[in-house]
Amino acid sequence: MRDWVAMSEPINTLPLVFDGPRRAKKPPRHLADMTSDERKAAVEAAGLPGYRAKQVSHHYFSRLVEEPGDMTDLPLELRKPLTSALLPTLMTPLHTLEADGGTTRKTLWKLHDGALIESVLMRYPSRVTMCVSSQAGCGMACPFCATGQGGLQRNMSAGEIVEQVLTGSRSLARGEVPGGPGRVSNVVFMGMGEPMANYSAVMDAVRRLTDRAPDGLGMSARGVTVSTVGLVPRMRQLAEEGIPVTLALSLHAPDDELRNELVPINTRWSVGEAVEAAWSYARVTKRRVSIEYAMIKDINDQAWRADLLGDVLTSYGDWGWVHVNLIPLNPTPGSKWTASRPEDEREFVRRLEAKGVPTTVRDTRGREIDGACGQLAAATV
Ligand code: SAH
Repeated sequence: MRDWVAMSEPINTLPLVFDGPRRAKKPPRHLADMTSDERKAAVEAAGLPGYRAKQVSHHYFSRLVEEPGDMTDLPLELRKPLTSALLPTLMTPLHTLEADGGTTRKTLWKLHDGALIESVLMRYPSRVTMCVSSQAGCGMACPFCATGQGGLQRNMSAGEIVEQVLTGSRSLARGEVPGGPGRVSNVVFMGMGEPMANYSAVMDAVRRLTDRAPDGLGMSARGVTVSTVGLVPRMRQLAEEGIPVTLALSLHAPDDELRNELVPINTRWSVGEAVEAAWSYARVTKRRVSIEYAMIKDINDQAWRADLLGDVLTSYGDWGWVHVNLIPLNPTPGSKWTASRPEDEREFVRRLEAKGVPTTVRDTRGREIDGACGQLAAATV
């Protein structure tokens, strides 16, 4: 068993085995890293009139414009200095892969220091979901997840997180995604990384997404889902933020013995502690939480485990605080595991529903482009 850090220690000082090497050079500070007051101060520090920051925010978040030439309401001589102060280039696209007739698009990005990350846009008839990365790599080492195999490179900045959403918004606005012009309606922190291990940048990003225009994108907090392996102190902190995002807990097993293997952080915070924190989140925020469960053939998909999962969840009452989202396991390189048989999946659903737990099976998008859950490895080949 691993020797986990003491509870009082902040998550971002987890031992190197989970935290990976640190890179010295921080990403450039971007408008999306800052509050509206901080933007004003940054513009003034560059010797420019502070009130111009609002105009640049309007271009970035509302008009989805970032080229100085397109900011025609700004005096010509101020456009370049303002954009260099607030809109440094954070990332460059290396390539985009498409599936589902172009309605699923995975983009590989290179960050300023060469770190690689991926984001996925998924267009459905009534919504557009952007799946974003919050860390380059991941330190959580879940054995069935491709991202977990490479370790953590570094945390991403709020600007880098938000920019993934904005690039999706711009493609939609330009009509590049089949289905006509559209908007991003949902953001899920289910790309690379463990969002709760990069808490402050993730929260800043959530604020930018939900801040009213022109200070942010003006999205509904309900449309934002933060998914976690179960970093309990951070889940509790999230409940106190007053931003009712949807919380997803990646459980994958109802018993500690198996979860210790599938989600190694379980040796630090057990099934009971993680589920209790999820329930408490639902109680405080009145938001139904989602329990994520990757269905792995003959590993976690037995009927008795469905019963046990049902019992664990209903022990906190059946007031609709939770639903289970089953994810057929997506293949990852070198993994010995495969997705459950359809009949085992159906039986799993049936048993959970018999206990009164609403259960859905996730429609997995983007498998063929390695863009589905757990497949993001940011490989360049
Ligand atoms: N670190 C966070 C968010 C990223 S993963 C978390 O673990 O919640 C998003 C979801 O995909 C998680 O529920 C994760 O457990 C799941 N996942 C990872 N690998 C998968 C795979 N190979 N097949 C299906 N789901 C997977």
